[in-house]
Amino acid sequence: MPPCLSLVCILEHLRGSSVGMLSLEAAEACSTTVLNPVACCSHKMKHSSLLRVLLTAFAPAIFALTTTSAKMSDLVALEALAATANAYASAFGIQIERKRSDDPTSTYFECAPVSLLPNAFPKEELAKAQAVAPDFNELVDRVSRDADFLESTLGGGVATSDPFTAQILKLYKQVYVNGPKDSPANLADRLGIHRSDYMLHAQSEGEPYQLKQVELNTIAASFGGLSSRIFSLHRYLTSRFGEEIKDFMETNKKIVTSNDDPAPGVPENPTLERIPQAIAVVYERYVQKFSKEGDASNVIVLFVVQEGETNTVDQRMLEFRLFEDHNIPVVRMSLAKIYSEAELAGNGKLTLNGKEIAAIYYRAGYAPTDYPDGDDGVEWGARLKLENCRAAKCPSLGYHLAGTKKVQQQLARPGVLEKFFPNKEEEGKVELMRSCFAGLYSMGDDATAEDLEAAKEVLEGKQSNYVLKPQREGGGYNFYGDTMRNKLKEHSSVGSDGSLQLGSALAEYILMQRLFPPQQRAILLRGGKVEGTGSCISELGCYGTIVTDSKGTVALNEPSGLLLRTKFSHIDEGGVASGFSCLSSPYLC
Ligand code: ADP
Ligand code: MG
Repeated sequence: MPPCLSLVCILEHLRGSSVGMLSLEAAEACSTTVLNPVACCSHKMKHSSLLRVLLTAFAPAIFALTTTSAKMSDLVALEALAATANAYASAFGIQIERKRSDDPTSTYFECAPVSLLPNAFPKEELAKAQAVAPDFNELVDRVSRDADFLESTLGGGVATSDPFTAQILKLYKQVYVNGPKDSPANLADRLGIHRSDYMLHAQSEGEPYQLKQVELNTIAASFGGLSSRIFSLHRYLTSRFGEEIKDFMETNKKIVTSNDDPAPGVPENPTLERIPQAIAVVYERYVQKFSKEGDASNVIVLFVVQEGETNTVDQRMLEFRLFEDHNIPVVRMSLAKIYSEAELAGNGKLTLNGKEIAAIYYRAGYAPTDYPDGDDGVEWGARLKLENCRAAKCPSLGYHLAGTKKVQQQLARPGVLEKFFPNKEEEGKVELMRSCFAGLYSMGDDATAEDLEAAKEVLEGKQSNYVLKPQREGGGYNFYGDTMRNKLKEHSSVGSDGSLQLGSALAEYILMQRLFPPQQRAILLRGGKVEGTGSCISELGCYGTIVTDSKGTVALNEPSGLLLRTKFSHIDEGGVASGFSCLSSPYLC
């Protein structure tokens, strides 16, 4: 990431410059990257062109600039808007926690990375994401109970080449397949707080944009808390400064839809009600089932968290709402601490310092780095202890496995969705889910002729049409472009008959069709300051919550709110916590 830069610095840098003509080369240099004077100077850009670029980039229609003169007050107005957003972020907790560089033992809070204004999004496609959320929830639940499917999908080449997935699968089999059918774990409720991520993609130029699934997150799907506040921030800004930003929003709207209806704007986002509500449902069910006469006074919810987490405010918002709305207390603890402090009784009752745990919500445990003590170490020991208890886990090991990328690829194979939804009356669900799938290809020993054809395309120079993904979560692991092509080249060979052989090291990878969402203008803030502006692409997340009992009977299943993340279009990876994206909201149109 280029360094953060305050607008004030840019203004200082430019003071006294006059406005010249916009050079296209200069515009390219700046408008597609973060505003960075070093980059601009390296293109030998004159101050005058730079100012022009800045104004063109920053101001589009917001501040009604003329083509011949730029007023300092216009830029000051942008700064004022950014300052308002930053103040709103402080007032309403759109914050992330940072370690102090001069004292790593203490922390401070700053504005989370945000897009100053919302991004246009077609309302029909957003409605589709919400409509399909309960279907994906059910799919995860059904997949999680199909041990044969999970074993045949993940047990071969994936488990051999990826020890992390192998370990989750091993524990899953130990607890749910080889353990007694009436064990506390098998009889426990299942809780899913999922987030299906999508990009808009047009089949070909001129076609309307359609929703395509990037991935389905079943563990630690974050930003439900902060996202609800971002929507409020954007509703405030678009309503308070409606006239000033009208042209800006209109320009972006035209990029995503030809629809001329009046735009409904930024919707309400119920994440902060719905996610705690789902946890409250399993909590109440637990209390009814196990506590004497439904006495909840000693029963808590456990949040499993990482040491040194920066996204604490997002997690805390859920914790506070659980108490505010449902009177349910939360305890936060790391896996290592849980290992030594939690006690598991023979009947599956799990206690922490005398408090009984009704539900376990993981905001850690999704990456190998969360288990530093190794396969037989304390963190995996804690995971197993938690899994064996009678509380609901979000996610259970089965739900975790159902969210792997290999399972995503396998579900896109012909007939697989139908296997999980065999009834005639569920055909509509299958059709809706399938319409969200992008091209997904196995790079394992189960690769079909079609999968190999996709790999060949990459090797033959069409690498820009694909993304290569390992079985990892959290952003920053995918392969793109030449790096991907080289990786495929390194681990494959072509036989004398011209056939492509994929090496076993590729078995944990899936190849995915690259999606090309519409590029819109956006102004991104980092640490509360304008980081830059330019062409950006967005990824929509739709949360879904589900509660089922041990037999799969559904007690709750609903769409539970939204997330929009925006990043500069030249950045391949995603993820706010990993530093690639900014939080935003959809301006429906
Ligand atoms: P992770 O589990 O690490 O979040 P993702 O599948 O979400 O993995 O990929 C990370 C990021 O890479 C996404 O947020 C998105 O920005 C980008 N990405 C993933 N798949 C695609 C794709 N098919 N086309 C374009 N970008 C993609
Ligand atoms: Mg992702």
